[in-house]
Amino acid sequence: MIIRKSPAEIEEIGRAGEIVAGCLSLMRENSRPGVTTAELDRTAERFIREKGAVPTFKGYRGFPASICASPNDMVVHGIPGDYSLVEGDILSVDVGVTLNGWVADAAITVAVGEVDSRAKRLMDVTRESLARAIGRCRAGLHLGDVSAAVQEHVERNGFSVVRTLVGHGIGRNMHEDPQIPNYGVPGEGPALEDGMVFAIEPMVNVGEHRVKVGKVNWAVSTADGSLSAHFEHTVALTAQGPKVLTAEAAANDRSNLDTASMLW
Ligand code: MG
Repeated sequence: MIIRKSPAEIEEIGRAGEIVAGCLSLMRENSRPGVTTAELDRTAERFIREKGAVPTFKGYRGFPASICASPNDMVVHGIPGDYSLVEGDILSVDVGVTLNGWVADAAITVAVGEVDSRAKRLMDVTRESLARAIGRCRAGLHLGDVSAAVQEHVERNGFSVVRTLVGHGIGRNMHEDPQIPNYGVPGEGPALEDGMVFAIEPMVNVGEHRVKVGKVNWAVSTADGSLSAHFEHTVALTAQGPKVLTAEAAANDRSNLDTASMLW
């Protein structure tokens, strides 16, 4: 069952979302060669707790950290540790924040120093696919329209979408209905209504879509070792159109968003 939120509840999720966005900006600034993912995690946790919020991921099903930090061919769910960033890496950082019992969740992939043109293209296409999906978060459309927006843009650009991991509804809990695949058929799936709040999160591989899960830790990596990128926003469907609740402050004011250029 998809739980719809009132405008006041969406405002509450937005307050958590502002902390998520601030944390991701901090992660972007700090992702430099020589910095370890454990250091990034400590910085993130301190930031979140200083805001009076709780890092949602920490302790979630036993996850030991406040962020997921997934370099290069790692898709998602990397546990921060002693991996030291290297010039030319890409790093996906995912963070969830709980404030006053409401959760927001977002992710970015950042370039560490100068990265090659294929990595740049992968990040651009993934970010654009998220923006297109957000543009379809409107009452009257269907969930399949959101999913298809990601898939169409990614595949048109020669990359592939991960199939086994999906986005999700969000609110009182980090994972609520519906599941939001990054592939689908326009017009299919649940009808979209105002008050729904989604965490939409394209995970895009340069090579094939298959992934493998680490035996010891949580990390999910591409099966073929190719690069992967991940962008995610928490988005509310409102009478005024889609409202991004986790947008980094410098880029916009959380008003209506239709295009990639307005998102970051
Ligand atoms: Mg998520």
